[in-house]
Amino acid sequence: MINGHDSLHSHKLPPVGAILGLLLLAGIRERRRRGDGNLAGAAAAGRKVQCGSESAGNGGADVIVVGAGVAGSALAFTLGKVEVPSCFVGLVLENCQLPHPNHGHVILADPSPILFYPISSTEVRCLVDVPGQKVPSIANGEMANYLKTVVAPQVPAELHDAFISAIDKGSIRTMPNRSMPAAPLPTPGALLMGDAFNMRHPLTGGGMTVALSDIVVLRNLLKPLHNLHDATSLCKYLESFYTLRKPVASTINTLAGALYKVFSASPDQARNEMRQACFDYLSLGGVCTKGPIALLSGLNPRPLSLVAHFFAVAIYGVGRLLLPFPSPKRLWIGARLISAASGIIFPIIKAEGVRQMFFPAMVPACYRAPPMK
Ligand SMILES: Cc1cc2nc3c(=O)[nH]c(=O)nc-3n(C[C@H](O)[C@H](O)[C@H](O)COP(=O)(O)OP(=O)(O)OC[C@H]3O[C@@H](n4cnc5c(N)ncnc54)[C@H](O)[C@@H]3O)c2cc1C
Repeated sequence: MINGHDSLHSHKLPPVGAILGLLLLAGIRERRRRGDGNLAGAAAAGRKVQCGSESAGNGGADVIVVGAGVAGSALAFTLGKVEVPSCFVGLVLENCQLPHPNHGHVILADPSPILFYPISSTEVRCLVDVPGQKVPSIANGEMANYLKTVVAPQVPAELHDAFISAIDKGSIRTMPNRSMPAAPLPTPGALLMGDAFNMRHPLTGGGMTVALSDIVVLRNLLKPLHNLHDATSLCKYLESFYTLRKPVASTINTLAGALYKVFSASPDQARNEMRQACFDYLSLGGVCTKGPIALLSGLNPRPLSLVAHFFAVAIYGVGRLLLPFPSPKRLWIGARLISAASGIIFPIIKAEGVRQMFFPAMVPACYRAPPMK
């Protein structure tokens, strides 16, 4: 599930990023007010938020691609558009063997999943998901206590000693897991990309896949253009970006949000049946394994395939409950399982945009012609 990327961000970024974000927004508004839609001057003035640009060759930039990661989303954070469903507690385990060497591991723990994946030949990254926005304090030892008493008993035996040693070493880091649906804000001369534009729960490690896929969509859109001077018509043309990216981005985003909810423990028996059914479905092999993995990796980013597999898991769970002999109680749990599955996936799909996700060809912005000049 994890493709090797490893980073833990600091809690302190949002306020700094929010100020930078506000400065950028204020700059854009001011230039718009003055009737200059192109942000080239701002780039030439050396604004720090510029991470990459297509240069016009006149000393300025025609398109500023803002990709400041989590810091870039800080303005949205302060505006309440970013959800924080949980936090990751990160540790590095040394000199231990994963149960399946060279593979990422997702432990379906209580209250929520724990990830392990190799980051070098001798080190394993461990990410413990802690639901909610607050984690136990590291400073007063609550965190070490939580990890030793709640988490350690659920860690595979092969990793247990290395896990305890990593806690004793004290190099524990935490980061909030953010989720933010992409809200397009077409701005002449600027384009937001990556985590600054769109985030999902990092459980499935899909962020980089979405960011790289967005880059390909943008590259294809810019390819036929001879110059990027006319910021206003370019901005209109690039509105199709927000729809063309949807099949890949929304499939990976929806899968991340849905899997996080399915894999978290719950006092509801129907939700626990769904969690076990999901694990067993993925273990069946054939299309039941290859299909979801192709979705996760972005190799088959088809939203309909995602919905089909999601409800196949639910039906598989209900079938197991009803066989060999259905009882009224089991029927009731089965009905609640279907209702829980719908309650998980439909709100995420709604936030992604039903039309853009399933019927992108019906969105007029998809047919924007490149600017003539
Ligand atoms: C623990 C963890 C594990 C993950 N694992 C995976 C994985 O396995 N697979 C996957 O696909 N995704 C994974 N992700 C998600 C992935 O890391 C991100 O989605 C991806 O890095 C986003 O790329 P980005 O360029 O938008 O942001 P970043 O990679 O965060 O890059 C933003 C850059 O902008 C810089 N910056 C910020 N502010 C400014 C400023 N004002 N001026 C100049 N520069 C600035 C930052 O220093 C940073 O270098 C993981 C994320 C985390 C937190």
